[in-house]
Amino acid sequence: MVQEAQDSMEIKHKDTEKGYEVPHFINGRQVKTQDRKLELYNPATGAVIGHVDVANHEIVAQAVNAAKAAFPAWSAMTPPQRAKILFRFKTLIEQNKDSLARLITQEHGKTLNEAMGSLQRGFDVVDFTCGIPSHLKSAYASDVGTGVDSFALTQPLGVCAGITPFNFPAMIPLWMFPMAIACGNTFVLKPSEKDPSCALRLVELAKEAGVPDGVVNLVNGDKETVDALLTNPDIKAVSFVGSSAVAEHVYKAASAQNKRVQAFGGAKNHCIVMPDADLDQAADALVTAAYDCAGERCMAISVVVAVGDQVADKLIEKMKPRIVNLKIGPGTTPGVEMGPLVTRQHWEKVKSYVELGKQEGAKLIVDGSQYKSKEQPNGFYMGGCLFDHVKPGMRIYREEIFGPVLSVVRVPDFETALQLINDHEYGNGTAIFTRDGYTARTFADKVQVGMVGINVPVPVPVAYHSFGGWKRSIFSDIGMYGNEAIRFYTKLKTVTQRWFPGDKS
Ligand code: NAD
Repeated sequence: MVQEAQDSMEIKHKDTEKGYEVPHFINGRQVKTQDRKLELYNPATGAVIGHVDVANHEIVAQAVNAAKAAFPAWSAMTPPQRAKILFRFKTLIEQNKDSLARLITQEHGKTLNEAMGSLQRGFDVVDFTCGIPSHLKSAYASDVGTGVDSFALTQPLGVCAGITPFNFPAMIPLWMFPMAIACGNTFVLKPSEKDPSCALRLVELAKEAGVPDGVVNLVNGDKETVDALLTNPDIKAVSFVGSSAVAEHVYKAASAQNKRVQAFGGAKNHCIVMPDADLDQAADALVTAAYDCAGERCMAISVVVAVGDQVADKLIEKMKPRIVNLKIGPGTTPGVEMGPLVTRQHWEKVKSYVELGKQEGAKLIVDGSQYKSKEQPNGFYMGGCLFDHVKPGMRIYREEIFGPVLSVVRVPDFETALQLINDHEYGNGTAIFTRDGYTARTFADKVQVGMVGINVPVPVPVAYHSFGGWKRSIFSDIGMYGNEAIRFYTKLKTVTQRWFPGDKS
């Protein structure tokens, strides 16, 4: 079975060289539609490499109906039975990780190393689901009254939907559907239309692992498809990750219909560097945190808050040569540190922010916006950019750029730095570099942000904690994966029982 999976992945990968079609996956098989298709690009070459089908209301209804039909049998399986299947799924992902990583790089552009790292993060969540019997255990209180016991049941919701962004085409789908189905739900996934192939392979691998037909379905598309999911009455819960404007729309539309919803939005992650920090260590960490994945990470650091002019000057001096010398190229080329941006449209948007920053009066220390690749002149490449003297009123400070552009804001002291972060509309991740325990502790306590790093620049929680930002980085109040996801994908029922002498139990 594993061999078959590897073979079919190889064939698919070869097909992609000629141009390919990405279908939907409904009730255990691929479904093609003809009405509307979107182009797929290889960002490393700028070439159209395929097309993805767009699901309309009818196709979405087919997928939801398949999930609804599969729910009674799947939810009736015991958690250990479901865990066994998830364990096989985990094994299959690991055995196919090289081909999965190649699919990510091909459509997203990030380097193979970065693709592999993100797969590992998703894989860790699947690992967590293998312990689902223990995670679903609930509380029991005996003798809440004379001869009366009370206990909680955690039951699945029904059909759940997941809508995911382009920047982690495997990891974020893996945050969602394995957790949902482990809890006994069935699922309809709508991956990003920019890089859907890896998600399709993952749901195919789930089938090969023994997930019954209809339990995990995938529909491709854009707003039309998302809106069809949001208005489908049989969907009981929606998990969304993407930009804040769309997250807000999804949250309002889904919650208006009494669906359970978690919707994660954009970010502007600040890192404070204190005068007592090890500046070599901080500079190293910041270059990685800002430019890995070409800055297309919701946990990327996009603002350095330097406490004192000396700290700012020294940090810039240390970071500048590193940024200028970043190795840029196709994500498949060994040694490349930064691949292209995902699409021409996004590449142009990021470059326009560099222009805007100059107009707004920020000082452009490193300008990678004009970078041209000799080998791949049509690829969506740009170099790293670094701005100094960025001010809170500027749009390049307030808005999410989502590219390899780092801003330095200079502040006089820790209190001003903390206030700056707390005043920002986003609150996804943040970090501080310091060697002072009291400052670090105060920062962790007072900062209005969901995920905090102390001398750790990208503090993504591990799979057995939970992921989630604050403020406009989240609409709803419940995290992804870990125990928060168990809470999200189950509903609580509390039973109070009394048995009388002579009753049969
Ligand atoms: P996006 O909001 O454009 O798209 C996300 C999903 O929503 C896609 O599946 C897309 O097809 C769909 N969509 C797009 N426009 C829509 C509309 N008008 N109505 C309904 N659905 C729509 O986001 P993206 O560009 O794919 O991803 C980048 C964004 O995701 C960034 O803002 C980034 O910060 C954010 N992100 C957040 C997290 C987090 O955990 N907070 C993680 C990763 C990415």
